[in-house]
Amino acid sequence: DNLFDVLIIGAGPIGIACGIEAQRAGRSHVIIEKGCLVNSIYRYPTNMTFFSSSERLEIGDTPFVTTLPKPKRAEALEYYRRVNDKFKLNTRLFEEVIAVEKLKDVFHVQTSKGHYTAKAVIVATGFYDIPMLLNIPGEELPKVSHYYNDPHYYAQQHVLVVGASNSSVDAALETYRKGAKVTLLVRGTAISQRVKYWVKPDIENRIAFQEIDVYYESTLTEISETSVTLRTPKGNVTLKNDFVLALTGYQPNFAFLKAIGVEIPDEAPMIPTHDPETMETNVPGLYLAGVVCGGLNTHLWFIENSRVHAEVIMKHLETKER
Ligand code: FAD
Repeated sequence: DNLFDVLIIGAGPIGIACGIEAQRAGRSHVIIEKGCLVNSIYRYPTNMTFFSSSERLEIGDTPFVTTLPKPKRAEALEYYRRVNDKFKLNTRLFEEVIAVEKLKDVFHVQTSKGHYTAKAVIVATGFYDIPMLLNIPGEELPKVSHYYNDPHYYAQQHVLVVGASNSSVDAALETYRKGAKVTLLVRGTAISQRVKYWVKPDIENRIAFQEIDVYYESTLTEISETSVTLRTPKGNVTLKNDFVLALTGYQPNFAFLKAIGVEIPDEAPMIPTHDPETMETNVPGLYLAGVVCGGLNTHLWFIENSRVHAEVIMKHLETKER
């Protein structure tokens, strides 16, 4: 068993940034990722365009060159892979961290493939693995998905898209343009203000021209093989349906965080206990980095404002040693 100075859980953009900063600080590191490199971004919708411009997604002072201001998913995959290669990071893929235990001053980390020890552990696990469920009858049917990938699949189908934020709006517009009969189900009274500013008029016009149907202030109450039932201000409505895209958000893996010793308050937004000045959790030497630190507030943190966590943590490790 070799002893690493820093073990990083998750090879998302922020996990990679932590690897780079560890290297710069002269600390040995290993990054352990349960899926492919930048697994979350890999699983984004195929045609996804970031809301951030390229330079705001940069890590390790490495330029992210794109011809348009906002990069697409495919460009981000190229970028982060090239950055990971450039810095020759010690990244282990398709290896899941199962348990972390601190004995004396050393962390013992059990993965799906082996065992590691480390002086410090950084949890950069994001929030994309666990969808917010609707908890309604029929949600378990194979036609229901909490992730949206590619529009072609939905051609000629009756699709219900649940949600009013970026993921839902992108899915509604893309599937509509491939010939799906799209209904958008919105809990509130309008499309979210967070929807990308260049996309918002598009969805609002599709709704105004009745090309995409919309139900505001409505909820989905039941899903069957061939239909969906909505509760709307005008009463219950049953619609013909082939597919449901329930894009109602995601949440960090609270069970994993608790199991490794991080305290989580019971009330929303369930922000995992940590010092925002240092990113250290209630377990000394165990840190949070990236969007995982927002708890249920998944709109607070993104790449551009959380990439600094990597430097903050390295600085804290240095101060502690002095
Ligand atoms: P992630 O990228 O989620 O990385 C976490 C990694 O940890 C994953 O690869 C996961 O597989 C791995 N992991 C989890 N558990 C374990 C385990 N037990 N063992 C090993 N590995 C594990 N942000 C922006 O800044 N700009 C945008 O334009 C933007 N657009 C977005 C669009 C969509 C559709 C979504 C869902 C998010 C978007 N975000 C955007 C937010 C974005 O996801 C995050 O900012 C970014 O991915 C966070 O990076 P991260 O490294 O913190 O987490």
